[in-house]
Amino acid sequence: MENRLRRAYLEAMGIECWVPRRPDSNAPAGDDTSAVGPPQETPPAGMDADAGPPDWMDEVPPPTEEWTSVEMPEILPVAADTVATLDWLALEHRVSQCTACGLHAGRQNTVFGVGDRSAGVMVIGEAPGAEEDRQGEPFVGRAGQLLNAMLSAIGLQREQVYIANILKCRPPGNRDPRPEEALRCEPFLLRQVALVRPRVILAVGGVAAQNLLKSQETVGRMRGREFQFEGIPVVVSYHPAYLLRSPDQKAKAWQDLQRLVGILKA
Ligand code: SF4
Repeated sequence: MENRLRRAYLEAMGIECWVPRRPDSNAPAGDDTSAVGPPQETPPAGMDADAGPPDWMDEVPPPTEEWTSVEMPEILPVAADTVATLDWLALEHRVSQCTACGLHAGRQNTVFGVGDRSAGVMVIGEAPGAEEDRQGEPFVGRAGQLLNAMLSAIGLQREQVYIANILKCRPPGNRDPRPEEALRCEPFLLRQVALVRPRVILAVGGVAAQNLLKSQETVGRMRGREFQFEGIPVVVSYHPAYLLRSPDQKAKAWQDLQRLVGILKA
């Protein structure tokens, strides 16, 4: 078998190959390039780096079209099938231990969710910010205070709704969640929705609405329309943090809250 083909084949099988080091042709004569630069991999004891793959590898048939076209199994976001059966205690514990995406490395706390676990209204935001990460609770700080005030305006206290985010860990620098992060975290939110079984969901902000409703549309285009998530009516509105920056949009958010009240009264 040709060396190049054999090496590709071995690498496809997860077997490392060592290629004999060649002097850097750009290095000055006599310069030992192996003495500088990043450390070089060395083969395990008993293997000769210059010998290449052992001869018995030649007896292994080359990959067939069928073999090479096998698709890699899809990486499950988290073990979605098992998450779907967890009770509150087990679900919260699973989230606290989760390392399914890279965000786990930078978190101080997971931000699971807070509020009445049998609430009629579930508020879903996008992801924890710095303060939420510190406190382990969603919607704290100024945006949280505005959310509380919005809820209060329709006769609801914060403790009477359930509040959660698309992501349970903070993205660095308050950047938007990446699609793969949202996908990996999704089973947790799905289970929270299934356990709460709210009468209406208030999705605040584009990230929440887009991930929940699998849409690319802006909040401006989605608000005022009828959507459902898992058979539950969804009201799309602006994120309180956005309303703090754009107070002229508060009137529209008020209209959205009125729609929510209408759904609750229906
Ligand atoms: S953001 Fe979600 S999926 Fe990622 S580590 Fe945190 S809990 Fe796990």
